[in-house]
Amino acid sequence: MKRENIDIVIIGAGPSGSVAAGYLEQKGASVLVLEKQKFPRFVIGESLIPRCMDNFEEAGFLEVLKEQGYQKKFGARFIRKQQIADFDFSKKFGEGWDWTWQVPRADFDKKLTDHLSSRRVDIRFETEIVSLERLDDHWIIITRDSHGEEYEIMAQFIIDSSGNGRVLARNLNLEAPPKIYEHSSMFTHITETARPDGIEGEQITFEILDTNTWFWYIPFSNGVSSLGFVGPNSWLDQFGENRTSAFRRMLEELNFYRKRFDSYELNFDPIRIRNISKNVKYINGDGFALTGNSAEFLDPVFSSGVAFATESGLLAAKLAFREIQGETIDWQKEYSDYIRKGVDVFSTYVKEWYTGKLQEIFFHSEPNPQIKAQICAVLAGYVWNQKNPFVRNHDRALENLYKLISTEKII
Ligand SMILES: Cc1cc2nc3c(=O)[nH]c(=O)nc-3n(C[C@H](O)[C@H](O)[C@H](O)COP(=O)(O)OP(=O)(O)OC[C@H]3O[C@@H](n4cnc5c(N)ncnc54)[C@H](O)[C@@H]3O)c2cc1C
Repeated sequence: MKRENIDIVIIGAGPSGSVAAGYLEQKGASVLVLEKQKFPRFVIGESLIPRCMDNFEEAGFLEVLKEQGYQKKFGARFIRKQQIADFDFSKKFGEGWDWTWQVPRADFDKKLTDHLSSRRVDIRFETEIVSLERLDDHWIIITRDSHGEEYEIMAQFIIDSSGNGRVLARNLNLEAPPKIYEHSSMFTHITETARPDGIEGEQITFEILDTNTWFWYIPFSNGVSSLGFVGPNSWLDQFGENRTSAFRRMLEELNFYRKRFDSYELNFDPIRIRNISKNVKYINGDGFALTGNSAEFLDPVFSSGVAFATESGLLAAKLAFREIQGETIDWQKEYSDYIRKGVDVFSTYVKEWYTGKLQEIFFHSEPNPQIKAQICAVLAGYVWNQKNPFVRNHDRALENLYKLISTEKII
């Protein structure tokens, strides 16, 4: 068996692992990325939010991504029957990016890893982790490549960015009950040969079916569009086992988008994910950090997944690098508490979305522009900006606003 010594091993080459690897490459660290699949591979999570741009920039990806011509995303639209709530990132409170992209992830993630390879980062695709064990102050990881060749890797630190693979969560028994139970999603792609011009063919839109159930339309610049539903398991179950016919029947439930997609073949049998929310007991420990979806995933309603994946990947890489250099890192404070702060803000918004209160706020007929800008900054992913009262006092601010609009209709 071949033996190697590496300072930092990253498990998973999605956006979280790629951003971590990009940062560490810039620092000249000894880093290895282990990826189970061959790229390109399909993954969901196609609508980014502006905060991602800061992270891609810092890890050295922005210029290469700008060359790809992905569909630009300047905001998001929510539709409930005849009501429309539009958020424009250029009108958000505070500093930060005004735009981002809608991306077919198979291509996007491949571009990230191609760029890493061009920067000489060692990424081993189609590599399986046979075992991993923490011994004193290091890890022993046994891997097997697609030719059956085994390697023994001695690593100081593991950044687990394995998404739903949840490698360390499973190995170290870190799984915790999810915060949202019993939500499913079903999604597919179509190739829109007669896509409308302007925002109808460019802007991400969420159509609300009822308080708990919603649909996404995400057009990409390559003519392909992503369609998906999120709702209680029981709502999706009622359409039966055959996924293509179930999806067609779900499309008939739509109001705004009804009939829009009828003439298109589905590019693939819709994928169904049951119980989409995931959680862990803690996100760092002796010689490891969990980042992105391998740590926690709540709900896709505000497209925050890739933003958290890149935020946590980047921060874990920074701290792991400092630790390798001999610094003592307070992971609880510098990593866990920081990530938790942002997650807590989004958790409140997701919770109040499904109580229906946030939907009442969004669809209020005369929104106060200042309040809307503050909420818009949250939707853009700037959830660490304590100057924003809708970040700082996230739970009370939404609750108070909801009470006000229920009684006085002030916004
Ligand atoms: C229905 C739905 C809709 C969503 N929509 C959005 C959205 O619009 N916008 C958004 O930002 N987010 C969205 N998300 C969330 C988004 O999918 C994730 O947050 C994001 O992909 C997380 O990135 P990641 O790098 O942590 O994980 P991933 O992108 O999942 O990458 C993990 C990588 O790890 C690899 N891996 C797994 N196991 C192993 C192993 N044992 N060894 C080595 N490698 C391994 C996988 O092959 C994969 O390449 C959505 C999620 C769901 C469920």
